Amino acid sequence: MPDFFTKCPLCLREQFKQSPMYQGRDAYLVECLICGTYAISRTAAVNLSDSHDELLPWLSCHTRQVWEEEARPFEILTTNWRSMAELHKSTSLSQKLDKLLKVAERRTEVLGSAFRFDHGVEFPLLDAISHETAGFLILHAIEMSLLSQPHAGGVYYKIGFAGWQYIERTGLSSQAPARVFVAMSFKPELNPAYDDGIKPAVENDCLLSCYRIDREEHNDKICDRILADIRRSHIVVADFTNNAAGVYFEAGFGLALGKTVIWSVREDHLKDVHFDTRQYNHIVWKNPEDLRTSLRDRIQAKFQDAVNRSHGPSR
Ligand SMILES: [Zn+2]
Repeated sequence: MPDFFTKCPLCLREQFKQSPMYQGRDAYLVECLICGTYAISRTAAVNLSDSHDELLPWLSCHTRQVWEEEARPFEILTTNWRSMAELHKSTSLSQKLDKLLKVAERRTEVLGSAFRFDHGVEFPLLDAISHETAGFLILHAIEMSLLSQPHAGGVYYKIGFAGWQYIERTGLSSQAPARVFVAMSFKPELNPAYDDGIKPAVENDCLLSCYRIDREEHNDKICDRILADIRRSHIVVADFTNNAAGVYFEAGFGLALGKTVIWSVREDHLKDVHFDTRQYNHIVWKNPEDLRTSLRDRIQAKFQDAVNRSHGPSR
C-alpha cells in the first residue's frame, strides 16, 4: 500500500513515519517527533487535510500527551478530534506550568536527580504550540526556583525544593490519586447519596477532589467531554442504583484505561445489577452515611501507600 501522507497531518512536518492498516482497519499509525505516536482514520485524515484548521496544533498537544501519559496511541476520528483539540486550546498559563511540573515529576526517578526535557520538540506536552512558549514557561519555572538547570542551554533540569512543594500543594503527583470521577444516576432522590455520602468521603475523608458532571450537561449521553474527564481522573466511583446505562459505559471505559473503579449500589437495587458486572465486589449501602464510611475505607485500603507518599516529596 503506498504512503498516504507526505507530512504529519497535525504538525505538517516531514520527519515522521506512517504505517497503514492500524489494528486491521482503514487507519494509519503515525510516529512523529512532535505529535508523538497516534492513530488516525482515513476519513479523519481527509477531513483534517481539507480544513487547515487552527485547531490542529492543539490536537497535536492531545496526541502527544496521551502518548506520554498512557503510552498508547490516541485514535483521531472525524467525530472526536475537534473536542479533543478544544480541551487544550483554552488552557490557562498556570495550567501550562502545572503540565511542566507534571512532566518533571513523572520523569524524575530519584529525588534530586535530573530529568530530560527537550522543549524544541516536546512543547506540545505543555499545551504550547511552539517551542518559544515552552521556553518561556521553563524560564519562569527557573526564575521561581521550581526547576533548576545544571548546564545552561542543555536539555536537563532538576526539580527544586520549591518545585516539590508546588507539586505537593497542587496534587500533581503521579504517585498519588488526586481526582475521582463519579458515575451515577442523576435522579434527585440520589442527591443525598452524592452530597452526604460520596463527596464527603472523597473530599473530606480522603482529601481528593471529587468530580461529577452536571445533570444538564450530561443528559445521559456519553460525550467526549465525559471521556476526557474520566481519562484525567485516577479513580472512577460507579454507583449502579437505578441501573443507569451510562454508568456501565463510564465504568467500563475507566476499567479499559486501567483506572481503579469502585462499584457501589444501594441494597434494594443489588438484584438489578447487570449479570456481567455482578462479579465485581460492590459496596452495598443502605444510607448516605453508610456509603461514606465504606467508600472511605475502600479508597484508603487501596491507596494507603499513595496517600502517604503524597504528603511529602519522599520518593
Ligand atoms: Zn506531527
